[in-house]
Amino acid sequence: MDRITLNTPLDMHLHIRDGEMLREVVRYSSRYFSGGLIMPNTIPPITTKEDIFSYRKEILNSIENDIFEPYMSIFFKSSYDSQFLKSVRDDILVVKLYPSGVTTNSDGGVVSVDLDEVGDTLSAMEQLDIPLSIHGETNGSVFEREAEFLPTYELLAKTFPKLRIIMEHISDRRTIELLEKYSNLFATITLHHLAITFDDLLGGALQPHLFCKPIVKSGKDRDALRDLVLNGHPKIMFGSDSAPHPKEKKESSNGSAGIFSAPIVLQGLVELFEKHDKLENLQPFISENARKIYRISPPQKSITLVRKEFQVPTTYGEKIEIVPLFAGKKLNWSLEDV
Ligand SMILES: [Zn+2]
Repeated sequence: MDRITLNTPLDMHLHIRDGEMLREVVRYSSRYFSGGLIMPNTIPPITTKEDIFSYRKEILNSIENDIFEPYMSIFFKSSYDSQFLKSVRDDILVVKLYPSGVTTNSDGGVVSVDLDEVGDTLSAMEQLDIPLSIHGETNGSVFEREAEFLPTYELLAKTFPKLRIIMEHISDRRTIELLEKYSNLFATITLHHLAITFDDLLGGALQPHLFCKPIVKSGKDRDALRDLVLNGHPKIMFGSDSAPHPKEKKESSNGSAGIFSAPIVLQGLVELFEKHDKLENLQPFISENARKIYRISPPQKSITLVRKEFQVPTTYGEKIEIVPLFAGKKLNWSLEDV
């Protein structure tokens, strides 16, 4: 097979920042995806109805004629009450919860994810049927942070059985058991957590462009996540977690966390699924699972990839240099122009 067509691809975890950076990166998502779930950790974060509207407007103004639905989200605050949530329910797909300090621009997040602090808001979300999206990590030791957060996921899943909870960018094989245990738990997985390990990040010369939160884990973790995705697990959606930073912020003595993958994720996914002879399971991962879990009807779009060598550029961007995942590497598949 030399061509593959993906129907209505969705990226259910996407950072496009704002201002100049947004104008540099949004096209890589809007051109090749039908929609994306836009993360709210801008500076300052998206926390009001006005924020949602102006951010959405900024995105739509930047994508020109592309058909692309920016599914909006709002940054969790324990001050959100039922009345407020009702007023934004139709404008957002999820409320995104960040424990304080765990990743880029999460400083205003929740200090402790316990029921005293977040219970009332989550209960209102459950009643209004607004899904909860979580960056599930503690501030503990770096390779243990996701595992240490599992009791919190479990507490929330048990306490709010009708609340759909999305465990974002799962990276640790110990999370899988929990995903299977509760019907209201779902997950996103990135391309980079399916493709690389900490040996790629740290095993030779330090690779700052592979540094992200949650940090990439062992080969065993990567393979366990691959197994789920390649075998078509219905509770897992693709979410790139593409998170651009300027090159100099990554190549720094105080390097930022985040991998910019948007321009190469489709090519990378086709290559991975083909290598394992599982191309038939790419379509649900890239679209159907998300449509069912979130009950959305994104605009129809067909994206074709052709078997043609694609040399990943070493940088993207016109005014800001941004280094992508797989920079300088050769991939087997290219996007056909749309
Ligand atoms: Zn993210």
